[in-house]
Amino acid sequence: MTPAAATLAQLVERERSAHLPVYPRQPVGFTRGSGPWLFDTEERAYLDFFAGLAVASLGHAHPDVADAVADQAARLVHTSNLYYTEGQIELAERLKATLGWPDGRTFLCNSGAEANEAALKLARRHGKASRPEKVGVVALDGGFHGRTLATLAATGNPAKREPFAPLGDWVTHVHRDDPGSLDMAVTDDTCAVLVEIVQGEGGVHEVPDETLRAARAACDRTGALLLVDEVQTGLGRLGTWYGWQQSPVIPDVVCLAKALANGLPIGAIVARGPAGEAFTTGDHATTFGGGPVVCAAALAVLETLERDGLVAGAATRGQQLREVLDDLVADHDVATGVRGRGLLQALTLAEPVSGDVVAACLNEGLIVNAVAADTIRLCPPLTIGEAELESAAERLDAALHAVAAGTVSG
Ligand SMILES: *Cc1c(COP(=O)(O)O)cnc(C)c1O
Repeated sequence: MTPAAATLAQLVERERSAHLPVYPRQPVGFTRGSGPWLFDTEERAYLDFFAGLAVASLGHAHPDVADAVADQAARLVHTSNLYYTEGQIELAERLKATLGWPDGRTFLCNSGAEANEAALKLARRHGKASRPEKVGVVALDGGFHGRTLATLAATGNPAKREPFAPLGDWVTHVHRDDPGSLDMAVTDDTCAVLVEIVQGEGGVHEVPDETLRAARAACDRTGALLLVDEVQTGLGRLGTWYGWQQSPVIPDVVCLAKALANGLPIGAIVARGPAGEAFTTGDHATTFGGGPVVCAAALAVLETLERDGLVAGAATRGQQLREVLDDLVADHDVATGVRGRGLLQALTLAEPVSGDVVAACLNEGLIVNAVAADTIRLCPPLTIGEAELESAAERLDAALHAVAAGTVSG
């Protein structure tokens, strides 16, 4: 017999005394998921338009991923990276193919921050090979690259950096709408420019083509590497395999994580050209990275994205999402605008009431996330159906009415 599931109140109390209090959690506990649906401790269903932070791109409990994980877990879970395992090699080959980079070379790790950390170390190694002082990085205000000390230093959010300062003076931040400043910030002492294509955590802001073009030109001028952090935008979310494929530039390194194994912890960088030659044996390593189980999951993810046409599907569904959000802006004074692309979009609000909107959506059985005080992020699974998207729009409509009427109890 399985013991009765804990109630939400019990979970809240136990978490409080057992965990470091770093997470601002929503008042809901989930016990299972299926496709775009999550079920709470009372078996209430919610449409998940957050996908576990843009991670569960195939939806929850996808059968192909579940089978791949179960099969692999029953055969071999871990060997360390001192030996060969075929799944890991196949994954790197598949990533090259999706990128269209025949000379692409992969390093596998465990998270988005670790992917960016690896890319920054690779760029430093590449830079120092030409000049010992070539270790500087230029990144963008509003960018988010992770919570390790190096990726935090690169993160363009002073409020996140300040509690842990000093983080060194090796990163210069420039505004995403200021290609001129970016060009000036990149010098012979710069080893990398690190950017997102759409800033996800920063509020779903598109980085202008002009800024990306300036970044590519500055890297070419100085021999720095262009690192594109596609941890959130990669693997189909914007309607192409990678966000940079919709831009005028080709990066030297892409960083991936979130959706790659549909929820199992994985990160990856793929480096092409000279960037692929920068690391030599012993320069970087990880105990768990690229283990057989996460690689089996990631291969199932890539296979499913391809087989089910989900990358092009994200573009179509993204169009529909844009239309329903535009309608909400037309119908509600509190909704002022829409940002983003594909299945990474944001609804902006007239006032800093995103917390109320998230709470009202939760009441309506819809999971969305407050990415800023006046901005709601929507990033549903790529498998989201037309009817489910309509249902989400109705729930969001009801939530916005509740917020306007002041009837939300958070
Ligand atoms: C989430 C995210 C990260 C950090 O990933 P973790 O797995 O949380 O370390 C880095 N960059 C971007 C763009 C992200 O969205």
